[in-house]
Amino acid sequence: MTASIPAASPHVMNTYGRVPIALARGQGSRVWDVNGKEFLDGLGGIAVNTLGHNHPKLVPALQDQITKLIHTSNYYHVPLQEQLAAKLVELSGMTNVFFCNSGLEANEAALKIARKYGVDKGIAKPEIVVYEKAFHGRSIATMSATGNPKIHNGFGPLVEGFVRVPMNDIDAIKKATEGNPNVVAVFFETIQGEGGINGMRIEYLQQLRALCDERGWLMMIDEVQCGMGRTGKWFAHQWAGIVPDVMPLAKGLGSGVPVGAVVAGPKAANVLQPGNHGTTFGGNPLAMRAGVETIRIMEEDGLLQNAAAVGDHLRAALQRELGSLPGVKEIRGQGLMLGIELNKPCGALIGRAAEAGLLLSVTADSVIRLVPPLILTAAEADEIVAKLTPLVKAILAE
Ligand SMILES: *Cc1c(COP(=O)(O)O)cnc(C)c1O
Repeated sequence: MTASIPAASPHVMNTYGRVPIALARGQGSRVWDVNGKEFLDGLGGIAVNTLGHNHPKLVPALQDQITKLIHTSNYYHVPLQEQLAAKLVELSGMTNVFFCNSGLEANEAALKIARKYGVDKGIAKPEIVVYEKAFHGRSIATMSATGNPKIHNGFGPLVEGFVRVPMNDIDAIKKATEGNPNVVAVFFETIQGEGGINGMRIEYLQQLRALCDERGWLMMIDEVQCGMGRTGKWFAHQWAGIVPDVMPLAKGLGSGVPVGAVVAGPKAANVLQPGNHGTTFGGNPLAMRAGVETIRIMEEDGLLQNAAAVGDHLRAALQRELGSLPGVKEIRGQGLMLGIELNKPCGALIGRAAEAGLLLSVTADSVIRLVPPLILTAAEADEIVAKLTPLVKAILAE
């Protein structure tokens, strides 16, 4: 029997334009819908399913944790928080971690740290530098930091205290902040995800680090999407050899279990004091176990190296098959965070790819985004390219 999927749910709020398939189970980099149709997962739950689906090491660990303890509250010490924090500190070269449940929550905490960092220095109305095309989340504050007017529309007034600048232009940020004593932080994604897979250049990141040091600003890097090994290093900014002062994480951290974290270095680690910030669910034992095990399995199975190698392979294959087509503007990104920019809107590809057995997304209207699980094999990468190529050719011919 074939289950039919309604165009719009009668009861779930209509906040997404959904593709009319319903997924029922997964294994590795593949998922199946309620009718048994198979899909290759080029989306990874939007850069979330680091270990793919039904991972043979993750699932038993989570089952074990569920039988022990799911949730207690932050009234008490949570040893697994200590364990995950210590690991994130080791991997980042930073010092302390606050745990929450999502990307926007991690970014909210970062914004609160920046404001209080300023207030503690005597700056009554702190301002934070943010970027064109940035995406930081859907809460009122993180939406205000986001650079896409479509996300703001209908939800004003926006939170004040942001100065917006273009990417990769050190003179532009110097000019935009000239003579402004209220600036306390710079907040950006190393590689913009929702904005269309736009990377900060290594040289720019280094110039920015120097500028932050010179001016006493916090460098706050939103690694919610590009972090957790996706580019082939634990955190994408590590390609530039810099260390941020504040780093929000989420998406891939729990391999599908909701986990958010804000990692802070010495300048920012002690800004928040008891009573300043909190969350009921954040850092609960189940979420922390997911984070600890995700990192352990990534290390055991060499998934940073895999993301780098299979990412290079995928990018080269995309370049070979699509790179010289007249309507393909650019193929870019790093590791398993890749974007293919077309010269026209291509949102229709999400549904067409699903029909062809491939999950992917389209962002910034005209950029096909691939953020598959980090366990993807070279053969699966070839399969993505084989499924995608005719779809791209067809949409460019329309
Ligand atoms: C997805 C994303 C967010 C928001 O995360 P949520 O978990 O959806 O709140 C923030 N920043 C970046 C860079 C993201 O990609």
